[in-house]
Amino acid sequence: MAMTEAAVRLVSVTKDFGAVRAVDGVDLSLAEGEFFSLLGPSGSGKTTLLRLVAGFERPTTGRVELSGREVTTLPPHRRDVRTVFQDYALFPHMSVEQNVAYALTVRGVRKAERLARAREALATVRLDGFGPRRPAELSGGQRQRVALARALVDRPAVLLLDEPLGALDLSLRRRMQTELKDLQRTTGITFLLVTHDQEEALTMSDRVAVVSDGRIEQIGPPVEVYERPATAFVAGFMGTTNLLRGAAARRVVGRPGTFSIRPERIRLADLAEPAAEGERTVTGRVAEIVHAGAHTRFTIALPHDDRLTVIRQNLAGLPPSVRPDAEIRLLWDHDDAFPLPS
Ligand code: ATP
Repeated sequence: MAMTEAAVRLVSVTKDFGAVRAVDGVDLSLAEGEFFSLLGPSGSGKTTLLRLVAGFERPTTGRVELSGREVTTLPPHRRDVRTVFQDYALFPHMSVEQNVAYALTVRGVRKAERLARAREALATVRLDGFGPRRPAELSGGQRQRVALARALVDRPAVLLLDEPLGALDLSLRRRMQTELKDLQRTTGITFLLVTHDQEEALTMSDRVAVVSDGRIEQIGPPVEVYERPATAFVAGFMGTTNLLRGAAARRVVGRPGTFSIRPERIRLADLAEPAAEGERTVTGRVAEIVHAGAHTRFTIALPHDDRLTVIRQNLAGLPPSVRPDAEIRLLWDHDDAFPLPS
């Protein structure tokens, strides 16, 4: 049987900085052409993982492979990998074209070919005609595209992106997310993205790994990680959720254990509405209503100081009883209280 080698493979990788264990026994395998994201809070070890793949760091223990070849001790320039950094790291004294062609210059590619390929790379990121400008004469989004063109110009097998959209404002960020995803599809290059923005990871990735304290908590397609979180940490980090444990779980869910109920799964209703077959119901008081554009977020106070957050799309009207301080009914399918390891 023909086996396709993983584009990137980490085997039992650990990285210590003095007494700090930044990466703690990570196993990871990226398929060729995959868009893979490392998602986690600040300090969880995402950037260190990326730097281990790039070759800027060497693991304390473990092995790094690219396309089936061990590269653990190879320097960055001997790996078929490019990195795009958050601050773009463009050369300010060079033109856009020279920036993009830089890797080819270093490799001794002839001038005519260099220029042709730099122009082609600039066209890929929709910057035709910007070649003669200096980076200072560009907007933030345009600089980011130059950094992408520069990384793509010699067609690396793997592109590493470290919070590449972090410096952009929200609307530009959302637009660039779509562009990045399109770029990945059209080039077929394996993308490994580091982000702490869960929406970014959810919208762009084929698979995500949720990282916490140097370890991978869960790997899977975004929908699966969102709908079926493996741990309470993942449930809380991937979107907002209601976590119920111990006595609160027994009171609210009606079962012992630890549970996650996504706020969008809870239905608000009049007190008089009966629960349907397979539904759980509790009653509570509307403690807070926050209108957030496309949706509204409700905080419902339950007896014994329990609280539930409910999110509702602002599509149709609410039941008339849903007003501040009103007593209302909450309903959800039993299956929407998702059990987690305690
Ligand atoms: P952020 O989202 O804030 O960039 P991160 O998830 O990328 O965080 P890392 O930068 O990988 O996290 O850092 C992981 C841990 O390793 C942190 O505790 C950090 O302080 C530590 N660390 C990273 N690089 C070094 C270094 N060169 N020397 C010492 N400690 C380091």
